[in-house]
Amino acid sequence: MRVCRTRHELAAALDEHPGTRALVMTMGALHDGHAQLLKAGREAADVLVASVYVNPLQFGPNEDFDAYPRPVDADLTLLEREGTDIAFLPTDDQMYPREPLVRIDPGPIATILEGKTRPGHFAGVLQVVHKVFNLVRPDMTFFGQKDAQQLALVRTMVEDLNMGIDVRPVPIKRDDDGLALSSRNSYLSADERSQALAISGALRAGREAADAGATATEVLGTARSAIAEADGVVLDYLVLVNPDTFEELAPGVTGRGLLAAAAWVGTTRLIDNMEVELR
Ligand code: AMP
Repeated sequence: MRVCRTRHELAAALDEHPGTRALVMTMGALHDGHAQLLKAGREAADVLVASVYVNPLQFGPNEDFDAYPRPVDADLTLLEREGTDIAFLPTDDQMYPREPLVRIDPGPIATILEGKTRPGHFAGVLQVVHKVFNLVRPDMTFFGQKDAQQLALVRTMVEDLNMGIDVRPVPIKRDDDGLALSSRNSYLSADERSQALAISGALRAGREAADAGATATEVLGTARSAIAEADGVVLDYLVLVNPDTFEELAPGVTGRGLLAAAAWVGTTRLIDNMEVELR
């Protein structure tokens, strides 16, 4: 595995690796969810490129940028284990030699849900994604459904700007008890971790209601009352939306829906989602 810390080293490594190219972008503190993206990339392309970069632009002033875990050695071990050819771990001055003047405007999907609680978050995400796409020039890229709104925005950017990259979704990897894997789970105490199970539990209750034939309104009601009863979980949002546009579903609608939630458990903010089929 080639480890590159500068754009120049990355360009040289890419030159030495001919063939189709898959890109997996991460912020590190890698876990088995990231590993699923790497496995999918390893299978699909000749060359697997992974980036590890905690992008300051996507953190708000009161968020966890400084506290975000950065276990570089463990990350390199996992990247190597998953057959990564090129690991790109840029420094801030490589990514942002100066304050960027030209900015990506992520549009209306970035103003709701995650974007409403985290203003500027998706503009920062798309800025770095666009930059890394330009540095790596991948044929395909893998994003987790865990960050469903991010996935929708990356797809929209690729389509609207004719970027010609195949954006492939990877299902959410969960622990056996249902908790969606996340680098931020490391912030949770043992008690908080068990309280956090209420989030995936509520989504699952909603999905079971949908499977049993409940309407959109009933599905949402089921999930919301499940989480309202949970100790230690402060809900930010729990919505039933169109998985592509993120518009809230009308009461009697049928077809695919996405139950999406964000909640604080102690001082940790967690997100999760689950697809439902409304009949
Ligand atoms: P992050 O390092 O949190 O920025 O995530 C990097 C990529 O891994 C994103 O595409 C995430 O959606 C994806 N990812 C994170 N957690 C999971 C998970 N539990 N299952 C699947 N993909 C995930």
